[in-house]
Amino acid sequence: MSLFDLTGKTAVVTGAGRGLGEAIALGLAQAGADVALVTNRTPAEKTADAVRALGRKAITIQADIADRTKLAGIIERTVDELGRIDVLVNNAGIIRRTPAAEHSYEDWQDVLDVNLNSVFLLSQLAGKHMIEQGSGKIINIASMLSYQGGINVPGYTSSKHAVAGLTKALASEWAGKGLQVNAIAPGYMSTDNTEALREDPVRSTQILQRIPAGRWGTSEDLIGPAVFLASAASDYMNGHILAVDGGWLVR
Ligand code: NAP
Repeated sequence: MSLFDLTGKTAVVTGAGRGLGEAIALGLAQAGADVALVTNRTPAEKTADAVRALGRKAITIQADIADRTKLAGIIERTVDELGRIDVLVNNAGIIRRTPAAEHSYEDWQDVLDVNLNSVFLLSQLAGKHMIEQGSGKIINIASMLSYQGGINVPGYTSSKHAVAGLTKALASEWAGKGLQVNAIAPGYMSTDNTEALREDPVRSTQILQRIPAGRWGTSEDLIGPAVFLASAASDYMNGHILAVDGGWLVR
């Protein structure tokens, strides 16, 4: 299906060394894209080798995206080495679990820096390039906590509500310039992010019982939605938050 073909496109994926970001990066490469793999603590070479094994180009960029002085370099290196940016996937994210009354300001600030501020700043940097180009796709990774309050994660919930709002704000401004900005809201996916929940017998049972699909999601469950939102198949979608949740929200 040529509608989903990403041949000749270049994507930047943050958090591409593990979890959902690694699967998304590989999925975009399978659909034909060259990929800039942004990681912080996880070496990106394993993902890069897998991208190259698919016949696509990969570059690796080490950057702490909480440090806003590092963000311009991500976009500049991608354009210098891969020639353009067609897709930006703002995937990297952190979660800090402590009750609101004890939630430290440091935790609050760290979560907002990674989950929200980097999303705005990277979108702005890539967006300028995409506006000049007259096309581009930005995919933000939202959450069920873009809709719900969650438990003991006030910073994370605030950041993910804001990511949904930012997705709509950017989509509204940039739709007329040929850009589509959308988000994927994953449900409960089996990655390091949710390890504490899966190890808590009470919470893991409660969560599983509420998922109509009857299983936790996998990283690979995001590949189809990510390729869709990165491709011409979604050219008339702007500011949509696509829940990929095994039915969590409809129960
Ligand atoms: P994960 O396994 O915990 O991985 C977190 C990712 O974020 C890693 O790739 C990490 O890179 C990157 N990251 C964290 N801090 C960073 C920083 N300062 N600079 C650069 N990269 C940084 O999480 P995941 O489950 O794959 O989550 C990916 C995204 O999906 C996050 O935005 C998360 O909030 C969202 N999400 C996850 C779920 C779920 O159930 N798993 C549900 C809804 C939404 P390094 O390892 O290189 O440091």
